[in-house]
Amino acid sequence: MSLIVEKYGGTSVATIERIKAVARNVAESAKQGNKILVVVSAMSGETNKLLALAKQIHAKPVERELDVLLATGEQVTIALLTLALHAIGTRARSYTGSQIRILTDPVHGKARIMDIQSARARHDLENGAVVVVAGFQGVDQDNNITTLGRGGSDTTAVAMAAALQADECRIYTDVDGVYTADPRVVPEAKRLERITFEEMLELSGAGAKVLQIRAVEFASKYKIPLRVLSSFKFGAGTLITDEDTTMEQPLITGITYHRDEAKVTVRGVPDKPGIAHSILGPISDAHINVDMIVQNVSADGLADLTFTVSSDDLQKSERILAPIAAKLGAEGIVGDGNLAKVSVVGVGMRSHAGIATAMFKALAEKGINILMISTSEIKISVTIDMEYTELAVRTLHKTFGLDDPAHPAAD
Ligand code: ADP
Ligand code: ASP
Ligand code: MG
Repeated sequence: MSLIVEKYGGTSVATIERIKAVARNVAESAKQGNKILVVVSAMSGETNKLLALAKQIHAKPVERELDVLLATGEQVTIALLTLALHAIGTRARSYTGSQIRILTDPVHGKARIMDIQSARARHDLENGAVVVVAGFQGVDQDNNITTLGRGGSDTTAVAMAAALQADECRIYTDVDGVYTADPRVVPEAKRLERITFEEMLELSGAGAKVLQIRAVEFASKYKIPLRVLSSFKFGAGTLITDEDTTMEQPLITGITYHRDEAKVTVRGVPDKPGIAHSILGPISDAHINVDMIVQNVSADGLADLTFTVSSDDLQKSERILAPIAAKLGAEGIVGDGNLAKVSVVGVGMRSHAGIATAMFKALAEKGINILMISTSEIKISVTIDMEYTELAVRTLHKTFGLDDPAHPAAD
């Protein structure tokens, strides 16, 4: 008997009809003799709706209260799905994150899971019931409700799978797998039969929202076989697995993008030890994620330090840095929003030179200006103006042969 964790995203539970369809799917998996734990998201659009309600009351809602509010979205769907399971004769019980006790750190809005006490879920599963758990939410040591960041239900699912040592974690969503690029942007994108954890980490980290990056990290660390599937259409989906060195790797596996990036430049700071730390330390202390960092030194011994953050964090970063820049005697702070990051990912890059050159040439030919560049062993990212995002993604998809019907993707 296998223990399987199934996660259904927002579009998969968007209406009562869809919730009933999910219940039938879950009941079918259970009938095949599996123990099933289901993780659900809020109905699609619900989290945004709740966020908008809070903003009508307060421009900058206190994060603790925001988490109390946002967690309600998933509480609705666990109850509805459990009732839908009862209606078709399947035993099931629902649990919020705090009831299951998904223990997180206290960082509201982007909490990290520290521990899961799985005894209650295990007990129900042993007794033949389907367990339905609210995604995206947890509780900190002081019993405050926390949320795991947008797309966090993926992480709940994989963390539950790790805690229960599940045989497989299935992420059901509105696409039938991981594609060579977001199919909403590139109609020619192809489904990948399989992808390595390493590549998926880079794709998710660079914006591919089909899986939240923390989910991929968990699955890779605890060796949970992870599959992305459509909740609307039967198929094999995409398996995320360890690298298979016996298979020939395509040079580039996927192109991805992340909109709403911003860059902050602290201009004219003295070029001496400790500067990067005094600027970036307080940013990190405020739990703001910094992505790319570049430092340029000018001839007169002054440096410009530029880094990128999500555009949501731009104002907060500028506020934090204002007194620090003054203390360092910097010439000023310049913030620039409305940027995007476009990345090319592939393990094949390790053994091939010239990918960066081909990428820069293709973007130049379309007149797209590159503002910043960063690389890892299997990824090259560029920051560009947000208005060119789609053009850049489509251009690179073509440049690296991913539009080609002969590309070794699934279909
Ligand atoms: P869910 O609500 O099920 O969690 P999401 O909207 O979070 O679904 O993620 C699925 C979406 O991810 C797809 O509709 C697609 O537009 C987007 N996406 C971005 N990059 C990719 C990719 N490389 N492969 C597949 N989907 C992608
Ligand atoms: N409901 C949350 C969100 O919209 C979590 C999720 O769907 O994974 O981000
Ligand atoms: Mg999602």
